[in-house]
Amino acid sequence: MPDDAYMINAFDMSKVTGEEPSVQATIERRARVLSPAYRLFYDHPVSFVRAEGVYLYDASGRAYLDAYNNVSSVGHCHPRVVEAICRQAATLNTHTRYATQDILDYTERLLNTLPPTLSKMTYTCSGSEAVDLALRISRRRTGSMGVIVTSNAYHGTTIVAAEISPNLGPLVPLGDYVRAVELPTGDHSREEFGRAFALGVRDAIADLERHGYGLAAFIADSLFSTDGIIPEPAGFLAPIVDVVHEAGGLYIADEVQPGFARTGAAMWGFERHAIVPDLVVMGKPMGNGMPIAGVAARPETLVEFAATARYFNTFAGNSVCIAAANAVLDVIEAEGLMENSRIVGDYLQRGLRTLADASDEIDGVRGIGLYIGVDIVSTTTGAPDPGRAAEMVNAMRERRVLISAMGPHGNVLKIRPPLTFSKANADHFLETLSQVSAILR
Ligand code: PMP
Repeated sequence: MPDDAYMINAFDMSKVTGEEPSVQATIERRARVLSPAYRLFYDHPVSFVRAEGVYLYDASGRAYLDAYNNVSSVGHCHPRVVEAICRQAATLNTHTRYATQDILDYTERLLNTLPPTLSKMTYTCSGSEAVDLALRISRRRTGSMGVIVTSNAYHGTTIVAAEISPNLGPLVPLGDYVRAVELPTGDHSREEFGRAFALGVRDAIADLERHGYGLAAFIADSLFSTDGIIPEPAGFLAPIVDVVHEAGGLYIADEVQPGFARTGAAMWGFERHAIVPDLVVMGKPMGNGMPIAGVAARPETLVEFAATARYFNTFAGNSVCIAAANAVLDVIEAEGLMENSRIVGDYLQRGLRTLADASDEIDGVRGIGLYIGVDIVSTTTGAPDPGRAAEMVNAMRERRVLISAMGPHGNVLKIRPPLTFSKANADHFLETLSQVSAILR
């Protein structure tokens, strides 16, 4: 990763060339009034005016196939979600200090999708706030400070969430109380992978103890998205939970990416590893774009926190967001989106493997359901090729198919469409990727 405030697939403001006049004007207005910390995507940024299902539309009415956005997980502007939001906004929108029913109906329904031991919800407005809260709870519970993450983890934007996010790059220092552990590389059985990873976690725990921090929590994205997506071998997290518990820490599953049926195998990513976390952080797809996120907890983990601090998060769990979140669960069930994610995800992965077989630059294909990573490597050295991955991401964008890139080397194509993606959408995607691959080779 370069030694600056780098982001994979970020537009470089010093290279504004050949944009359409209206897009150019928008970019310049942004630069005048928005923080320079924001980043646009792509060499030629895109500007959208509306969206529907798996398509985003620009001002000229051109459709872009969305193979990237997991927030609009049940499809952009899904009518059932829109209707629920509008109806609730016109009826009542209030907070958790009043004894309303809607939040209870939703919470009971949501908790039913989780293992029974995770029986208490706290709502937040963002994944970052949920991560932050999960760490506060863990510290109160354990009396310790230390946090273990994976070596390219991303967990969010608050001070603490940024301090536990090595993915933000070397200019955002990790907290002194943080240890980052490498995931094993290469092909391993579940046992070998789990053993190797657990060794790293044990070393990190020993180091945290030696420095007086102890272990409050181990936190990991159950799909390891920013680490390049590591879904297999399923089950490798089981020994980590044991090691963390032996050291008195809590296991936090960050389900912001894998949650809400994304994997096609289960509602939650951790279920594939046959573990039950102490705390589960969720967000992004939860309200299909409305700001709702939260922490599901084993009740005993909350005892010390609740005894010493109150929790009121003004907008979190408001009636409109709850209505949206409830409609999201309706749509996942009514449209069979978990199954769709599995079926279309498998189909897309098969197609990608066929492309990989015919290409020297498309190497590994890893994924589960509709979350897929494709390794792009140099045709001469076989080494990770982030430059080539960026070219492909931008060439796809020029053909109006949206993806991005990820991973510690930035060479992994990140394919993560709404769960309503169809086989026809997958064919369109594969055809475009094969053109891009052939044309630029
Ligand atoms: N955890 C993970 C794994 C994430 O991917 C993200 C967002 N990309 C967050 C936490 C933070 O969520 P938010 O942007 O809603 O604060």
